Amino acid sequence: MSKRRRIYEGKAKILYEGPEPGTLIQFFKDDATAFNKKKHEIVDGKGVLNNRISEHIFTHLNRIGIPTHFIRRLNMREQLIREVEIIPLEVVVRNVAAGSLAERLGIPEGEVLPRSIIEFYYKKDELNDPMVSEEHITAFGWASPPEIDDMMSLAVRINDFLCGLFLGVGIQLVDFKIELGRLFEGDMMRIILADEISPDSCRLWDIKTQEKMDKDRFRRNMGGMLEAYREVASRLGIMNENEPVRGKGPVLVSSNDD
Ligand code: UDP
Repeated sequence: MSKRRRIYEGKAKILYEGPEPGTLIQFFKDDATAFNKKKHEIVDGKGVLNNRISEHIFTHLNRIGIPTHFIRRLNMREQLIREVEIIPLEVVVRNVAAGSLAERLGIPEGEVLPRSIIEFYYKKDELNDPMVSEEHITAFGWASPPEIDDMMSLAVRINDFLCGLFLGVGIQLVDFKIELGRLFEGDMMRIILADEISPDSCRLWDIKTQEKMDKDRFRRNMGGMLEAYREVASRLGIMNENEPVRGKGPVLVSSNDD
């Protein structure tokens, strides 16, 4: 097999050039990182689960008319995606106080917010992704005012869809992070959802037990991260509990030697 051109390698994913212009292949790694890579472990099989969970969510979003970069899943760890120009912002939507919001504003973790809140963070590892306002975004040209409107309305629609999806399987969507990109089609440009949506980028709590089913298990050294991700997948009806999450090696299909 010829070696593919690697376009970009991030903390949890690699992007390779795709089979045709305007496409890329998104590969999900098993690396778990937190605190800007200060904590780093390999969690065997995480990439497989995130690939499947993100596929499930993006497929549904595409179906309800929310544009995403997702075209189709190729195998256990890879998906074919549309190439976009990533907007250098992380858009966080919060329904319940947790993480940095709870810490910064002194709101007890678990308190339901008076309404959903959207925040923007500037994607810059060297600066630890600082929170920015619309003023910063437009002044520094990261996105225009109409683009900010588009991002916010996409974020609200995605939040509504995800809240319902997870509620239906006994999970509370506390908050999540999305990344958006510009898709150029001829003279037209539109903003679509990119990256991934998985337990790496969401806070998901079991409704009955309030148990964490997301990356906080790793951030807070609670253990059971893979089991929690597997439970999310299984509740969404994605993977059979017994299905192996690790890729199998090559399988000999037929042999004429004997
Ligand atoms: N998040 C993420 N990537 C980041 C920062 C945050 O996916 O680089 C997600 C995180 O998993 C949570 C939400 O965004 O679902 C809000 O995170 P928060 O600002 O509370 O930061 P944290 O406590 O994770 O540092």
